[in-house]
Amino acid sequence: MTDKILVTRSSMPPIEEYIEMIKPLWDSHWLTNMGMYHRELESRLRVFCQVEQASLTANGHMALELAIQSMNFPKGSEVITTPFTFISTTHAIIRNGLVPVFCDIRDDYTIDVSKIESLITENTVAIVPVHVYGNICDVEAIEKIAYKYDLKVIYDAAHAFGETYKGKNVAAYGDVSVFSFHATKVYNTIEGGLVCCHSKEQYDKLYNLKNFGIRSEELVVSVGANAKMNEFQAAMGICNLRHLKGEIEKRKNVVEEYRRQLMGVKGIRLNVMSPDTEYNYAYMPVLCDSREQRDRLYSGLREHNVFPRKYFYPLTADAACFKNKYKEVELSKARDISGRILVLPLFADLENDKVEYICNIIKRLLTGIEVL
Ligand SMILES: *Cc1c(COP(=O)(O)O)cnc(C)c1O
Repeated sequence: MTDKILVTRSSMPPIEEYIEMIKPLWDSHWLTNMGMYHRELESRLRVFCQVEQASLTANGHMALELAIQSMNFPKGSEVITTPFTFISTTHAIIRNGLVPVFCDIRDDYTIDVSKIESLITENTVAIVPVHVYGNICDVEAIEKIAYKYDLKVIYDAAHAFGETYKGKNVAAYGDVSVFSFHATKVYNTIEGGLVCCHSKEQYDKLYNLKNFGIRSEELVVSVGANAKMNEFQAAMGICNLRHLKGEIEKRKNVVEEYRRQLMGVKGIRLNVMSPDTEYNYAYMPVLCDSREQRDRLYSGLREHNVFPRKYFYPLTADAACFKNKYKEVELSKARDISGRILVLPLFADLENDKVEYICNIIKRLLTGIEVL
């Protein structure tokens, strides 16, 4: 029996490196309010993501919520989105006074673009797709539909930080792309978020929304929340950004080991990798043949101190708090996949022998042979 292997483990820089970074904060006593690290990280991320503008926030959810708010949609407007995501995506829409219209998904777990048009009504204002597990949505088709019907596109790119699609950083897609830098993500600022956008005007709107609309000591230009990233978060982000490439390389090795071990194993299907995407190896999803298999793997692994997660089960559309509140739509594929999906532990320092240990349990559980 090994020590607990959780689904993820936060990346951290060497402690000395972080301490060196935060020492100046004890000199300046400037802990937040767009300090030097906030400004430095925004500028580094603009370069890293190859985007015109990048606005840091306290967390990924606020980045998403404020990105949607910055579009000034009329209350009650409809937003087409996926139910196969973290609850944050759906909450961000609803908390803006908008109505989520759920669309089914494809085999790669992202929104089924062939079903979007039939969901568009005169009240539709936007599409909020998600690059699930770092699988990039059909961005070209989404762009075409958005152009044809004059809709905004807000990508929840929380899973896709650092990825490129057809040679272009994913941050460039849509009217805005939103990232989460939560402790559990590939790249973290402890808690944090980022909105990437194409204009200074959009950046200023986000700035006002994250800082009470305050432009100067005596000038408040609009109603805003407080969603600023503080200096300790930004310092963590600057350190972690230095190590990101190495972390992704290590994750890649872990994923390759998993795939070697699990390739061709009957009863599960591995994520289909697209040659157009340079991955960040954020997650290790496996799709089981049946719900019973999935639940057997889930509890069987837990009995051996391995803690996979059912991301994303249930669908956000089926969350207890939305029961019977939104239009009933056909989500057969999303519901089916949600019942069969399991995400295995994956982090940069997960050793090969641990991966082998996990895979051996899976193989034995799938063949029904008792694991001792
Ligand atoms: C993590 C995540 C979020 C929310 O980000 P936080 O930083 O935790 O607020 C939103 N959407 C998806 C798909 C996520 O995985």
